[in-house]
Amino acid sequence: MRDIGRLALASTTIFSLIASTACTASSGESGDGGAGPSSKPASTAPGTAGAAGIGDPDFPKDGNGGYDVRHYRLKLGYEPAAKRLDAVASIDATALQDLSRFNLDLTGLDVRTIKVDGAPAAFSREGHELTVTPAKTLAAGRPFAVRVAYGGRPEPIRDADNLGVYGFIPTADGAFVTCQPNGAKTWFPANDHPADKATFDFEITVPKGVTALANGEMAGRPRESGGKTTFVWRERHPMVTYLATMTLGKFQLREGRTAAGLPNLAAADPEYASALNDLYTLSGKITDYWSTVFGPYPFGSTGGVVDDYAAGYALENQTKPMYGGFDPDEGIIAHELAHQWFGNSLSIKRWQELWLNEGFATYAEWLWSEHKGEETAEQIFQRHYGSLESPMWEYPPGKARPDDLFNNSVYTRGGMTLHALRQRIGDKTFFDLLRAYTARYKYGAVTTDEFIAMAEERSGKQLDGLFQAWLFTPQRPASW
Ligand SMILES: [Zn+2]
Repeated sequence: MRDIGRLALASTTIFSLIASTACTASSGESGDGGAGPSSKPASTAPGTAGAAGIGDPDFPKDGNGGYDVRHYRLKLGYEPAAKRLDAVASIDATALQDLSRFNLDLTGLDVRTIKVDGAPAAFSREGHELTVTPAKTLAAGRPFAVRVAYGGRPEPIRDADNLGVYGFIPTADGAFVTCQPNGAKTWFPANDHPADKATFDFEITVPKGVTALANGEMAGRPRESGGKTTFVWRERHPMVTYLATMTLGKFQLREGRTAAGLPNLAAADPEYASALNDLYTLSGKITDYWSTVFGPYPFGSTGGVVDDYAAGYALENQTKPMYGGFDPDEGIIAHELAHQWFGNSLSIKRWQELWLNEGFATYAEWLWSEHKGEETAEQIFQRHYGSLESPMWEYPPGKARPDDLFNNSVYTRGGMTLHALRQRIGDKTFFDLLRAYTARYKYGAVTTDEFIAMAEERSGKQLDGLFQAWLFTPQRPASW
């Protein structure tokens, strides 16, 4: 994600924030004694409930415990005029413990029926938690299939002080769907935390004339029937839930391949038609360049989407970064496409390690500037380092704060951390390290400790002092 003024745009939603915060707090601790409230540790005893959170200390109700999703198949019908979603989510998962019941995350919307392995299941709802009780206990280690039929009018999450407006955002001609950090639950039942990645199929039916854009590649041409069009998209590589999208509206498309041969799709709302060709060309050029710097591109296609919803930010949706209501410049395209490696292929297990996404994507902006013969990464680093009064010196980026997750320090001081590392170990070792890192953890998840261990392993240097000074100390590093 990169912000271009999100907080100013979101300031009118402050009353919604107060309401939604109160709602979240009250649903968290009370529990009903059986749905696995976060205060109760996940039990591994036979036939117990899966935990209501996946175990992220800063977001204790996000995601769920007790199972691992392998695949989501989402059949989604949307009527922009009525702002109405009608959907069936089929989820293939594996039980990690014997499960008498388990939770999904879903906010708003009405659940009609749930089946587990073809048999009707009981369910209850409390806040964002959808608790499912299958007819029979699910055995540890065994796959199971959940089918949820649901619908209603999806609404985004509004968090003006911290996270902005995100999730399923209805627009005049469709929807703008960007879900970081936990907004997937506004449009499908999910294990909504990056620690559980899965592959996705999307089958999206919209009125004729509306284009549906989702992750991955289109399977066949759109089908027309009865005044409606159905688009089928497949993301066959593992993806975290916050990167899933079903962005809908009137779009102009440009399709082709990058110079290196990768499928490339750019889409622009007619209001941003003049941005389409640059978006297409730059996305292709930058993806090809990053493939030489960061290692082979991890996914099946690249591109980007400019919609007319004034989100004030861009989000790196897998294979299709979204630019909300502005004509993206090269720096922000370089940032979002670098995330395809850092954040998307290599995802984080805990939100507090967000610098592994944003520090790397910010540093990529500096590398792109250097590549273009403009300001070098060293010059940009020195410019920030010379800013003696910056608030980022008091915010160590190695542990992002849940109440200020997207702080500038996570981006800029995170990027500076990588430059300090590059200064210390030299260009050859630094860029070899980046490629080895993206190869070792491809499609997986990473931690800061794993990155540091790998940097030490590849360089043969003791680097804990450097990372301690840059990532974990609330002051401007003096030496490293
Ligand atoms: Zn970002």
